Amino acid sequence: MEKGYIDFHLHSTNSDGERTVEEYILDAAREHMQAIAITDHNCFALRERKISQGVEVIPGCEFSTTYNAFGQKKEIHVVGLFYNGVEDSLNTIFDDRNRDVYAKAIIHKMNEVGLPMTFEELQASPHLGRHLGRMQIAVLMVQKGYAKDVDDALDHWIGNSSPYYLNPSEYVTYIGMKDCVKKISEAHGLPILAHPYHYGYTEAQIEAFVADFRSVTDQPLGLEVYYKKYSPSQMEYLRKLAEKYRLLPSASSDAHKRTHAFMKGDYSLYLRMKNAMGWR
Ligand SMILES: [Zn+2]
Repeated sequence: MEKGYIDFHLHSTNSDGERTVEEYILDAAREHMQAIAITDHNCFALRERKISQGVEVIPGCEFSTTYNAFGQKKEIHVVGLFYNGVEDSLNTIFDDRNRDVYAKAIIHKMNEVGLPMTFEELQASPHLGRHLGRMQIAVLMVQKGYAKDVDDALDHWIGNSSPYYLNPSEYVTYIGMKDCVKKISEAHGLPILAHPYHYGYTEAQIEAFVADFRSVTDQPLGLEVYYKKYSPSQMEYLRKLAEKYRLLPSASSDAHKRTHAFMKGDYSLYLRMKNAMGWR
């Protein structure tokens, strides 16, 4: 039987996505997806691999990490895939002290610019996961009548290009990128460098960064090559980097909204991962 497609980067309601894991499975079955990974921000939506509706669902996580290079401190995302389940050793990887610092800073800023709201209101507002981030603040702002919808709240008040944007890396200290890669690897997971074009690096810097990522361990590592929003030439550049640095290419949509389509990555990418990792 011909195998379907893979998408190894999806956000559910456990972090800032709109779909539940069960909804992803139903959509994936309809879309002829063979295997998907749920990779919520800094949490595990599921801890064991399962097959449901004919779709293989792999536990994963998108880890926020800190990385210093080229004179800048950046927040870098590393996707971890845990084919054989999530080991308890990973529970300490998220630093709970930091969890709400950023949300509280944004609320403080909004109060300063004349939009009263409190952290307690945010906690009481409807959200399904533990994650209290910008999306939840945007929802609260709509409820309070400060914005007409979530996009409006992001554009005018709290999004990356809004006038009051606060850079999360100035508020939150995440685990170091290399430390995170080591911990994922030691827990028998596959660390994958997420969306390499997202960090504001030039292509020469991306290559140096990828080489540095590769240097962390001799264990298998991956690179998001087939990323839904990247152009064919960007994907081709990343494909070459993956080959040069012996990184397993991954495919990802990074879907958050219901309207975001799956990335239809080739099943052979998954076979390469399984082979390299000894997953069976
Ligand atoms: Zn993501």
